[in-house]
Amino acid sequence: MRSSRVKPLEVFEILLSAYGPQGWWPVDEDYHRKHGTDPREEIVIGAVITQNTSWRNVEKALENLKRHGVLSLKGVLETPEEELQDLLRPAGYYRLKTTRLKEVARFLNPVEKVRTVKREELLKVKGVGRETADVILLYAGDRLHFVVDAYTRRIVERVFGVRGGYEDLKAWFEESLPRDLYVYKEFHALLDEHAKRFCRKAPLCTGCPLSRVCTLPWRSGSPIGRP
Ligand code: SF4
Repeated sequence: MRSSRVKPLEVFEILLSAYGPQGWWPVDEDYHRKHGTDPREEIVIGAVITQNTSWRNVEKALENLKRHGVLSLKGVLETPEEELQDLLRPAGYYRLKTTRLKEVARFLNPVEKVRTVKREELLKVKGVGRETADVILLYAGDRLHFVVDAYTRRIVERVFGVRGGYEDLKAWFEESLPRDLYVYKEFHALLDEHAKRFCRKAPLCTGCPLSRVCTLPWRSGSPIGRP
């Protein structure tokens, strides 16, 4: 296999110049200004309900919460279980997500806790896996935790020829990247964008902005051939 000499930061720069800043995590600042709520609470809520569903479905559930004026941790805690289930229905697994969201809201209320909570403590809350915890810490807490999701794993394996479990890949990114919140936040979003545009399950290597540095098209036996 041709090993990649490219560094994660170079891949970040290529993707940033190809797609531009993604501005993640998206929040509705107007809503929070109007309701006197904290936008970080929308990030926490989105991070919990995005599990096992598409972002489009998450947006529908967030819209429901907004329409009912409960897009906040306090709003989640004060909304009766059945009502909250209805609002979260578009995000799928709505019963489970309602229970989990209430648990997380109870644990992280007031939301300022995202600045200080230990990752190990957050991981003990039911329904908070590694990816959810790191999304909350990075995007709501402005803390340097790299988020690894299925898209990231796919791209890292193809571009760098690197495989590993969640903690291995998280450490690999964190050791290679500058300790810069902007880079962490944008890179995760750019990897997701890249997985949707080119590095799909069946990759579209022709025209891919990373084809020059990616190992996959060069591997012997690669099903896709050289770009
Ligand atoms: S060249 Fe192909 S495998 Fe590599 S990143 Fe691009 S789409 Fe993915």
